Amino acid sequence: MSDPNNYSVGWICAIGTEYIAAQEFLDDEHDPPEFVSPNDTNDYTLGRLGKHNVVVAVLPDGEYGTSSAASVATNMLHSFPNVRIGLMVGIGGGAPSEKHDIRLGDIVVSAPRDGEGGVFQYDFGKSIQDQAFQQTRFLNQPPPTLRAALTGIQAQYKRKGHQLEAAINVILEKNPRLRQEYERPQPGADRLFKADVTHDPRGCAAFCANEPSNLIPRRERTKHEDDPAIHYGLIASANQLMKDALVRDRLATEKDVLCFEMEAAGLMNHFPCLVIRGICDYSDSHKNKEWQGYAAMAAAAYAKDLLCRILPNRVEAEKKIGEVLSGLQEIAEEHLDVAQRQLEIQEHAAKQKLSDKQEQCLQLFRLTSSSKDATYEWYKDRVEDRVDGTCEWFLNHENFQTWLEQDSGPLLVSADPGCGKSVLAKYLIDNRLPRSAAICYFFFKDQDQNTVRQALCAVLHQLFSRKPSLIEHATEQLCIDGQGLINSTKSLWTILGNAVQDPQAGPVIIVLDALDECAESEFEDLMRNVESQFRSNQSGHGKLKYLLTSRPYEQVVSKFRRLLDAFPRIRIPGEEESEIISQEVNRVIQYRVERLAREKELSDQLKGHLEDRLLKITHRTYLWVYLVFDYLKTEGFKKTPKGVESTIATLPKSINQAYERILNKSKEPEMVRKALSIILAARRPLTLSEMNVAVNIDSTSQSIHNLDLEEEGDFKSRLRSWCGLFVSIHHGKVYFLHQTAREFLLADLPSSTTIPTELQWHHSIIIHHAHTVLAELCVRYLNFFNSDASLLTDATLEASHHIDSHAFLDYSAKFWGIHFREARIRNDAATVNLALGICDPDSRGYSTWFNIYWKSIHWEFPEHFTNLMISSYFGHEAVVKRLLETDKADVDWKNEDGWTALSWAAEGGYEAVVKLLLRAGAKVHYEYKTIVSKPAPTLIHASVKVDS
Ligand SMILES: [Zn+2]
Repeated sequence: MSDPNNYSVGWICAIGTEYIAAQEFLDDEHDPPEFVSPNDTNDYTLGRLGKHNVVVAVLPDGEYGTSSAASVATNMLHSFPNVRIGLMVGIGGGAPSEKHDIRLGDIVVSAPRDGEGGVFQYDFGKSIQDQAFQQTRFLNQPPPTLRAALTGIQAQYKRKGHQLEAAINVILEKNPRLRQEYERPQPGADRLFKADVTHDPRGCAAFCANEPSNLIPRRERTKHEDDPAIHYGLIASANQLMKDALVRDRLATEKDVLCFEMEAAGLMNHFPCLVIRGICDYSDSHKNKEWQGYAAMAAAAYAKDLLCRILPNRVEAEKKIGEVLSGLQEIAEEHLDVAQRQLEIQEHAAKQKLSDKQEQCLQLFRLTSSSKDATYEWYKDRVEDRVDGTCEWFLNHENFQTWLEQDSGPLLVSADPGCGKSVLAKYLIDNRLPRSAAICYFFFKDQDQNTVRQALCAVLHQLFSRKPSLIEHATEQLCIDGQGLINSTKSLWTILGNAVQDPQAGPVIIVLDALDECAESEFEDLMRNVESQFRSNQSGHGKLKYLLTSRPYEQVVSKFRRLLDAFPRIRIPGEEESEIISQEVNRVIQYRVERLAREKELSDQLKGHLEDRLLKITHRTYLWVYLVFDYLKTEGFKKTPKGVESTIATLPKSINQAYERILNKSKEPEMVRKALSIILAARRPLTLSEMNVAVNIDSTSQSIHNLDLEEEGDFKSRLRSWCGLFVSIHHGKVYFLHQTAREFLLADLPSSTTIPTELQWHHSIIIHHAHTVLAELCVRYLNFFNSDASLLTDATLEASHHIDSHAFLDYSAKFWGIHFREARIRNDAATVNLALGICDPDSRGYSTWFNIYWKSIHWEFPEHFTNLMISSYFGHEAVVKRLLETDKADVDWKNEDGWTALSWAAEGGYEAVVKLLLRAGAKVHYEYKTIVSKPAPTLIHASVKVDS
């Protein structure tokens, strides 16, 4: 068995063909290693090459790309801690040009220049659309010893030529089994096609090459020229195969790229290596495997020659690569734009390192109870991708650049609604923030993703998925808090604080989008904690950064005051960049006109005209563009210049006008109003089936069975015909299109200054009326359970045929009490009667909803509840009043914990109800001090008032 400490050269291959070539060039093969690190699944071959001990590893079968290469390197460095020199040896696609006569079988070596490494990373998909390549980065240089050897070998070959061909032949003679696959193909098999000739699937030899003019003619190499030739220069590395000759040529011209491959970018920054690629094709659509074997041999032969120029003591003088490496996961992360599949592989690998208990703990932070629940990823992914050319205003902003470079600190982006903040946040997360940091995000969404607890859980889940070792901080707290951990924001902040300060955390970036949609009651706590992290950070070693986006609302921005004082450059006020943003909106308009023209088959002239006119309209936002194009798409305008003119004339001038237009289309305004009121007041977004039931309940409904429900799909279309784009359905749930839609409807917001008279929907719903609508629907629905005994038994059976009339039970059970209170119902006898019907503890309706409600918020089930207690608990003034008037309610009845109706009302802080009860003679028991868990100032206050 071999001692892993004896190996100082690491050699990485991507595929089996390369692995075999590497093995063949070893002078001796050694026994397998005595031990490797516990999670290392690499396959290794050890051996001697000249005077060096070399460890060769290969990527797992079927895996490829930068992150896989990175994981192989990580494992290697853990198992072979003495590795100091890295080589990535294998095959690649050439980029021949007038400057570089690259042929199949030639070798391209990554050559550093101007202080930058010889590997160029780019993002394949984006590059093609961008029309101009944006390099993501130049990667680190290989170690000095390797660079010196490179210079040496170049001189040697120049003077004396090389013996690579001969070295390959020696191997093939020794091992004839390899001949078939690894021998040099016939010269005729090296065909370079013109860039615009794409591959004919029937075959290159018979079809693509059939027409001689398809080929680029090349002279034969003379005997004084090296064959294979060695080319030194830039190697481009991406996560996808390059197979487009036009793109290849552009990169060759603009960047002087010589070769394309898929692994090196994953290694360079932490596994300082030299990349050696034998050329097996020309990175175009005419791919074949014919040259792969020989190209792999050529690369390996060159690598051996190079290593033999390096003295072993020079290698020992290099730093151990492992010492350069800081965290276990960092290599795997040090690349940009990883394909999703590879991320999953990484996460899978990370999970394998967790114990069962840790895994359970990690899952807690998911906060989802079934696979149907929306995840934090989903909230990000539902945001649209940016249109090319947009978001640039932000990337170039000085404050952003400064923030990127600093170690820690917050950055706040505030811009008006509809300016694309969420699109920007998504783009930054997916494409622009440095992968060397653990990036954790949360997209606040009014109603269902609006609590700090959800945000912290999402952030922690991401942090622990990327840095599994940090989960210790959570498991410790889990022992203290138990499962309740995820409900305590205090504990969650503690965990986050400790985790980011852990030296193993490395840099962490937390992106919180749409702070203005965070629940108001929690926002203060959020900002206080963010602030205190930076205060404690100044002495600690945490590298924590926040990127926050919000609308420029005073109540939000004012909470930043102290941070603004401490970090004067944290704010990027988008509204001040409006000129640049407006230019980017132009890009979006051009893009959407292009698309519309294709869909509607508009002539170029009309297209130009339409674009012209749209660009001239002022005060546009992304949201406006979105609405206007929906309008244009559905409007069916006349395809003449006049038609365009009259359509332009009718375009909504503002978001509000657009909204008004949408809602006016419906022929059932009353149903629209009902649906919108429900969405407006709902405590959480309703599902389609809940909505279906809810809108179909009215004052004539007698039973669940005669609600006359449509199938869900049909209902969805109906909802669409009522509300159009104003309402959007995601993941089976009903939302407003945008936060501005809610504000458009709401009547009692302070922003309602001037109300144009022609807008009948604008500011037309008063919030407590909306609560009244929902309260009535809920209590009517729950009353069905009083009158129909069969409902409880068939509740589980019926949910079929895409109609679920029980769907509304959960929502109404949990929230009717809140809506009823918020509705401020005082004298409406009918609704009060309905509420009384479900507050009677002996009724079926009561036991149905109360079970669901109580379990959702408390642990222990209360007994001996009375209707007076229930209505006092919820603060339902009208019901309490009625009960005190008509019923011989025992105001001092206590349940098993000694709580009375008065205790519950006081606990809830419902002053009016407390007064009612005191007037009715409720006793203020002295035990309150011990019974009520926290002081009830309302009670004391109220009783003082009544007594005096
Ligand atoms: Zn072809």
